[in-house]
Amino acid sequence: MKIRYFDNAATTRIKEEVLEEMLPYLKGQFGNPSSMYTIGRGARRAVEEARIKVAKLINCAPNEIYFTGCGSESDNTAIKGIAYANSYRGRHIITSKIEHPAVLHTCEVLEKQGFQVTYLDVNSDGLIGLENLRNSIRNDTILITIMFANNEIGTLEPIYEIAKIAKMYNIIFHTDAVQACGNVPIDVKTMGIDLLSLSGHKLYAPKGIGALYVRNGIEFERLIDGGHQEKNKRAGTENVAGIVALGKACELAMINLESHMNYLKNLRDHYIEQVEKRIPNVKLNGSLERRLPGNANFSFEGVDGEALLLNLDAKGICASSGSACSTGSMNPSHVLKAIGLSDMMAEGALRTTFGEENTMEDVDYLVECLEKIVKKLRD
Ligand SMILES: *Cc1c(COP(=O)(O)O)cnc(C)c1O
Repeated sequence: MKIRYFDNAATTRIKEEVLEEMLPYLKGQFGNPSSMYTIGRGARRAVEEARIKVAKLINCAPNEIYFTGCGSESDNTAIKGIAYANSYRGRHIITSKIEHPAVLHTCEVLEKQGFQVTYLDVNSDGLIGLENLRNSIRNDTILITIMFANNEIGTLEPIYEIAKIAKMYNIIFHTDAVQACGNVPIDVKTMGIDLLSLSGHKLYAPKGIGALYVRNGIEFERLIDGGHQEKNKRAGTENVAGIVALGKACELAMINLESHMNYLKNLRDHYIEQVEKRIPNVKLNGSLERRLPGNANFSFEGVDGEALLLNLDAKGICASSGSACSTGSMNPSHVLKAIGLSDMMAEGALRTTFGEENTMEDVDYLVECLEKIVKKLRD
């Protein structure tokens, strides 16, 4: 059976060009970038060229990019690294209720260590309130961490405005842009972002490679001690092939950004239109305007999300009931609860996240199957 993959927010398939680019570094070019001989120097050069490409995608300087093991590590390094380096100034952090677990659980760990965290509410679209943010700021606030785009409902937070407020109060601003990178334009300079997390496998590079941007001049503590790699901020011999792949993926994302966005948006809008036309009692979760181009999240009233997924899987369709991280936990998604959904509506949610490999025919097949399955489950 043909597999139709609509779960690109969980992970993406590595692109052929990206794979081609990284393979030599798993074969002949296996040298350690810290070694002096030729294959070592070749690996070093490849790492630094990749750093330039990642930097270009978000418009920062190459020496503001630190390679990490994943998006979760980038989030941990950003939040703990800033908290530990600034605890002498204060111990208060502001975040939102709809962050990825890599942010939420990191904040919870810091709370156990004596930091205080404010978790901002969001409205029914999933947006934080700027007035609410301003009112949450205290004398001892050292960090604001708000995601660029939500992984479940695709909401794009008002990053520029948040950064402006942070700057006004001299507070450091980090954003988890794992879902946004490669899917919407990002310019850390004009947007005023101090730290930003991204991850390879969400933008057509492999799993196990991430990056963290830290604006020059901002001090943070490293989480992994050892050698001097990454300007002494992240020990461990570099994942050269992964880094090369991430660089290539960022380069391609940069070149194709506009057409990529339009392509995904067309698929998504067609899907939303068809679902609303053909299936009664559905609700689109999140904002229609401030939304990732490839994200759709519907609640189907009176339908169990898990049953929906299993029935779709039998038709060769991959989708998600919420975030991949919460499947199996049986708890309704914290994001859907935060935007005010009842448990029943949250349990009937289906996230479909479109990618480059999807076609209009794939989307039509998806809608056709959904229509039948929802009807069957409701009967
Ligand atoms: C996937 C994801 C992460 C974690 O990235 P990994 O590379 O899987 O650790 C963090 N934040 C968001 C918003 C994500 O979607």
